Amino acid sequence: MILRGNYIRDLLSGDARSDVTVHGWVKTRRDSKDVCFVQLNDGSCPADLQVVISPANFDADLLRRVTTGACIRVNGQLASSPAAGQALELQAMEVKVIGEADPATYPLQKKGHTMEFLRDIGHLRTRSNTFGSVFRVRTSLAQAIHSFFHEEGFLYVHTPIITASDCEGAGAMFGVSTLDMLNVPRVNEGAQRGQVDFGQDFFGKPAYLTVSGQLEAEIFALAFTNVYTFGPTFRAENSNTPRHLAEFWMIEPEMAFCDLQDDMFFAEKFLKAIIARVMDECASDLEFFNKRIDNSVLQTLENVVNSVFEHITYTEAIALLEKSGQTWEFPVSWGSDLQSEHERYLTEQVFKKPVIVVDYPREIKAFYMRANDDGKTVRAMDVLAPRIGEIIGGSQREERHDVLLNRITEQGLDPASYWWYLELRKYGSAPHAGFGLGFERLMLYLTGMKNIRDVIPFPRTPGTAEF
Ligand code: ATP
Ligand code: MG
Repeated sequence: MILRGNYIRDLLSGDARSDVTVHGWVKTRRDSKDVCFVQLNDGSCPADLQVVISPANFDADLLRRVTTGACIRVNGQLASSPAAGQALELQAMEVKVIGEADPATYPLQKKGHTMEFLRDIGHLRTRSNTFGSVFRVRTSLAQAIHSFFHEEGFLYVHTPIITASDCEGAGAMFGVSTLDMLNVPRVNEGAQRGQVDFGQDFFGKPAYLTVSGQLEAEIFALAFTNVYTFGPTFRAENSNTPRHLAEFWMIEPEMAFCDLQDDMFFAEKFLKAIIARVMDECASDLEFFNKRIDNSVLQTLENVVNSVFEHITYTEAIALLEKSGQTWEFPVSWGSDLQSEHERYLTEQVFKKPVIVVDYPREIKAFYMRANDDGKTVRAMDVLAPRIGEIIGGSQREERHDVLLNRITEQGLDPASYWWYLELRKYGSAPHAGFGLGFERLMLYLTGMKNIRDVIPFPRTPGTAEF
């Protein structure tokens, strides 16, 4: 195996030396009169290692097999390179072809491919420059998130992927069942007669893939104070958009003894810390995105890290939008939800930095958000960012048992399904708050990539579950 110190990344940031062995996949090969240049990449960094081969010293048949896509091992001397653009190159002494790649059929050629085409070759797109950078940034971001919470003393909760409560209310759910779809058992008697008998199913009742870990995270916050979840979530929404996946990852911190103010400041601190860390750790990948994908990436990220987020109420936001003189696709009025165009106007035109909007109308927000005394709004907060709009959605939770019970009934929900959620408000309840952040949405933000299918290793969307 390749150990630290021997990745191409490590070699390129070190000194010249002899007897170096590298393994990797050939990006390109260029032949001139008596020298052959191979660009080799092992996924450790955006830069390729230039391997210099003198054909005179090698078997011609062996060299013919060193083609784009082939996997090779090279031993040689790492020397300073006379060419511009790189400090070091590897002068080959031994070359071994580990795995050939027939150039006539290898799908990944040097010329730029469309993202759509690359999606169709999900098993090979990982070797392209763009996806190399995407997945290095993804790793760095995930690590940054875990480190941040760990350093803040948070407990990491693994909330369940399969859930039997259909009460999360965040979106359409995928069913999980072992019933024979061709021979579904039916209820024989009573009011449920003729309906599917889930009593015979694996869990004895209908079960689903989770859409959020928040409600379970709240259980843990009321025992461990500060907790977070970071795991896969699923939504069977048939929305084929560049921003929606059927399977995506979500980060949901939940904090006891935390009000909406604390929640806002913590969200800001969190975003700044993780972005700064990725900027530090993946500087050359982010430069790649800035150059090739979206030239505002670095500037927007610096702006997030260096600005003090603006705080406004929903009511103030509506007033700003109403007097903006803009024509909106979605009309603005008090009581309607903010759309992406409104969020972008506020962050890009009015404040030119991230904005946290608080106190949304209760009708457009979830039942668990804490009611304000005005009877009209709830303690919700959304963090809006330039270029993308909403990036974090959070709230202070309703910790008063009777108020929560009222909200549940008012929204036409069945209190019986929420028995444990309600009991948490009966036994040692405490003010608490949290937020949710879609990991892939944040990835879009960091990379400037335009389609959410291109920031997750294996996208699941309506009609697509290949690889
Ligand atoms: P949207 O309005 O974009 O559909 P939502 O209001 O349904 O989002 P929430 O239920 O608040 O989203 O989920 C929390 C976060 O999860 C969102 O802010 C977003 O970052 C992310 N998210 C929601 N749905 C998806 C999805 N289908 N694919 C990827 N990320 C998602
Ligand atoms: Mg949605």
